[in-house]
Amino acid sequence: MSSDTQIAQEALTFTDLGLSPKVLSAVTDAGYTQPTPIQAGAIPHALLGKDILGIAQTGTGKTASFVLPMLTRLEKGRARARMPRTLILEPTRELAAQVEENFIRYGKNHKLNIALLIGGVSFDEQDKKLERGADVLIATPGRLLDHRERGKLLLNGVEILVIDEADRMLDMGFIPDIERICEMIPFTRQTLFFSATMPPEITKLTEKFLHAPVRVEVSKAASAATNIIQRLVKSGSKPWDKRETLRNLIKAEDAELKNAIIFCNRKVEVSELFRSLLKYDFDAGALHGDMDQRARMQMLANFRDGKLRYLVASDVAARGLDIPDVSHVFNYDVPIHAEDYVHRIGRTGRAGRSGKSFTITTKSDTKYVDAIERLIGNKIEWHDGDLSTVVASEGEDEAPRRGRGAPRRAGRKDDDRKDRGERKPRERHAKPGEEAVPETVREELPDVAEAAVADIGERRARKEAIRSENSERQAAPERQASSERKASSDRSAQRTPERGDTKPQRDRPARHRQEDNDATVGFGDDMPAFMRIVAKV
Ligand code: AMP
Repeated sequence: MSSDTQIAQEALTFTDLGLSPKVLSAVTDAGYTQPTPIQAGAIPHALLGKDILGIAQTGTGKTASFVLPMLTRLEKGRARARMPRTLILEPTRELAAQVEENFIRYGKNHKLNIALLIGGVSFDEQDKKLERGADVLIATPGRLLDHRERGKLLLNGVEILVIDEADRMLDMGFIPDIERICEMIPFTRQTLFFSATMPPEITKLTEKFLHAPVRVEVSKAASAATNIIQRLVKSGSKPWDKRETLRNLIKAEDAELKNAIIFCNRKVEVSELFRSLLKYDFDAGALHGDMDQRARMQMLANFRDGKLRYLVASDVAARGLDIPDVSHVFNYDVPIHAEDYVHRIGRTGRAGRSGKSFTITTKSDTKYVDAIERLIGNKIEWHDGDLSTVVASEGEDEAPRRGRGAPRRAGRKDDDRKDRGERKPRERHAKPGEEAVPETVREELPDVAEAAVADIGERRARKEAIRSENSERQAAPERQASSERKASSDRSAQRTPERGDTKPQRDRPARHRQEDNDATVGFGDDMPAFMRIVAKV
């Protein structure tokens, strides 16, 4: 695209795009003055009923690029019982709930029935919405197919199909489900397809299911995210070394740190790190795929509202979530997929603010760091802050059983670990595409979910409980061994990709509720620099 075209596109306003007055009024109320490149590139074609292939990441304004034209097109016609008019497929429950928020927000001048079909929520309420006739159906693939198999849903009335985050769907093993769903929807539909990257499997899918699509591509966000200070931080590779490095970093950054997301590669690390941070009195929450919907939403709400300062999260759980104004991102693990790095650091430095990201790096991470640097086209600097002073004081409060001021012994780390009652988790690298390979006792995970909903004031009590649980573990190695044996038999069940929709039903209908989760916070008219990046149409 020539720079002239780019300038012309940047000068576009929402009124130039052909959206209806009702939609324009909601956009004005959201405070947006200018469409982002993906919006400027996709909306006019989407309004004409063309298929779109949007290559864009979250954070580029891509949700509105399909929601706004859909709302305009939905103004004509009505939904019939069990026959939704549009279908949006999302890989995770959170993303689906977030898209629903977008429809509520931009569709405030429309009277549309919106149905959200996600796992972890009772079928009954969802059935009722379908029965009423849904203009907009937002679903995760597994739950959608479950409804269809129960005979509660007919897909032959779908006029517009959106497949969002297709590459994430691939990572999570959803492509066969997507293919099945595409085949159930009339050939005459319009398809809007979005993916951050285009691996061969995704290209094949678009060739099969899109008809002469208009391709709109926005360049990678990372290259333009210059307002984020990025640093690598050296660490020993053992979990307790990494945890110590993280604690020291947090302390060193304390003055500037408003709140932080701490990313781990695997669910087990999310769980363990969360427990460890609680033990050290950090105001932390956790977010991973094994938590039920209510716990996840509650955790997010607490973090957004500032009741939690630290959120430990896995990529799948955090992907695409719109969490405004995070001052720091810590990568407890170097991400295995370089693109995840871009997503992670993009959580800070939003809306033109400055942000900081620190990536804890061990010797074995070199090849992943190289891949990240190749992707972003830059070398990431090493953190040169001296953490040793913090380390010294850290050493004191870390060894309550050793007695204050006790000299450090050789082999201290292992002894400390025993002192702390921590087991040494078995180490195994996740394969590419795996969010997590649980290597810990299954029984630990509900603790995280429980703690998510627990009142923050109860944290101290929980910490005590964890401590006594740990010392009990120390006293009963035999029991622990048996629980590990049990975990290993549970493991195969856990290895299935995160299909929120196929998880066992919970008692409480924990569907996304407005009071659980404040409306998405946008950037208003303060569009961040990285959203203005070059678009290719
Ligand atoms: P998304 O890529 O859809 O996750 O959007 C990221 C964020 O950008 C959300 O907080 C939106 O509210 C916000 N946003 C979307 N479009 C615009 C726009 N044209 N101007 C400013 N902010 C926007």
